[in-house]
Amino acid sequence: MPTSQRVSREIQIRAPPTPRRVRVVLSVRQSNDAFAPALRLQNPDPPPPPRLGRPLPTMAGRPRPQPQQLSPSASTRGRERWLVVLGVALHAVYMLSIFDIYFKSPIVHGMAPVPPRLSAPPAKRLVLLVADGLRADKFYEPDGRGRYRAPFLRGVIQEKGRWGVSHARPPTESRPGHVSIIAGFYEDPSAVTKGWKANPVEFDSVFNQSRHTISFGSPDIVPIFCSSLPHSTWGTYPHEYEDFATAESVYNLMESYFKDNQTAYVFTADHGMSDKGSHGDGHPSNTDTPLVVWGAGVRSPKFLTYTEKPDDGFRFVDDHKHDTPTPQDWALEGFERVDVNQADIAPLMSTLVGLPCPMNSVGSLPTHYLKLSKADEVEAVLANSKQILNQFLRKSVLNQIEDLISAKDYETALKHSEELRRMALAGLHYFQTYDWFMLMTTITLGYVGWMVNLILHVLQSYTSLPVNLQKKAQLHPKNTSMKV
Ligand SMILES: [Zn+2]
Repeated sequence: MPTSQRVSREIQIRAPPTPRRVRVVLSVRQSNDAFAPALRLQNPDPPPPPRLGRPLPTMAGRPRPQPQQLSPSASTRGRERWLVVLGVALHAVYMLSIFDIYFKSPIVHGMAPVPPRLSAPPAKRLVLLVADGLRADKFYEPDGRGRYRAPFLRGVIQEKGRWGVSHARPPTESRPGHVSIIAGFYEDPSAVTKGWKANPVEFDSVFNQSRHTISFGSPDIVPIFCSSLPHSTWGTYPHEYEDFATAESVYNLMESYFKDNQTAYVFTADHGMSDKGSHGDGHPSNTDTPLVVWGAGVRSPKFLTYTEKPDDGFRFVDDHKHDTPTPQDWALEGFERVDVNQADIAPLMSTLVGLPCPMNSVGSLPTHYLKLSKADEVEAVLANSKQILNQFLRKSVLNQIEDLISAKDYETALKHSEELRRMALAGLHYFQTYDWFMLMTTITLGYVGWMVNLILHVLQSYTSLPVNLQKKAQLHPKNTSMKV
């Protein structure tokens, strides 16, 4: 349908599926993991100076003569002043070092996007629905009256899609959550200095790579991704209308309009919520969010007769386990559950519509969600790996060199470039020669064997000695047989 192709491919609508809404105020929280070492480092204050004025026993057991006055002497005051200066300097250095170590932007620039070489994109368009502050257990378990809160999405899990738990990383706030879903990396910690409100640096996102994005949602979130995106149509609604839509009505709208079964749907949440209605920290109630994916390019439900949990075992940012058992009251044990890190959703969305993964993404493509041919699956994973490798290369040496060039420190930049070339050549040399010993041994043994064979042949055919030996051996087998 030609009209449908002109209509945008990506839509982002925030649609909490539960009528219960808790409005959340963004706040910078000290419970962030990154702060913990800072707090620990501040603890070991220098011990208080020894108190003077108390009689100290001497060798002879006699008390020392009492000082004239109880107030600290001039030298003590001087020493304490030094201690204060030293303490302030020490804490300043420690604080700065924490900022230097932890509050560095994870974003690197200067990479090129890596488009996956798929035979065809699995889906023509993608709908992303993000519920605000919806934790996984509340979503999957029945309420007090035994009814499930999102019957439509449960039907999707049981009949047409894939599901799992998406693990967010603290700070479990709205903005970092959306950044990891849509851009595939965990919030730029340097944003803390701007109160998490503005984007400290521009970053790539699934929306960036798309042909067109239609986005509708909270005024806190939508402008982050769309305000500087020319190929986007976006709008925000006042906070009081945040629960205006549901996943079901969006699905029905899309399906009745396009009628081509070429739309993929991703439903998840930016973060969870504690029982008291707060969020921000790393407790499972805050970090565990639902993920339901269905539509074009997505695998159908897989029925399990036993508990099987696919997990690549590698943790990039946190050490959460994917093997937490599915609670019985979720009543989903028969359906394969595929857990992800929140940043994995970005490469999943990109691959669904055949786009390059966002360039700053650290997400690993969760292939268990995708219905791809083996060849396409390899291409998708390879593109995802190349895109991460590009960041690694940029971060290691290339960025330093670029920085030096912009600082006009050509001498050092030249030295680093030459060093990089030397390392690259050593790497090339390694790949060309790393199995030389094995190859040389095999070839040498092969040649020696061939020569022995030839010599034996010549001796057997053109001389009498070996023939005689053989005949002797045949005539007197007892002589040659080994006596043990
Ligand atoms: Zn939120």
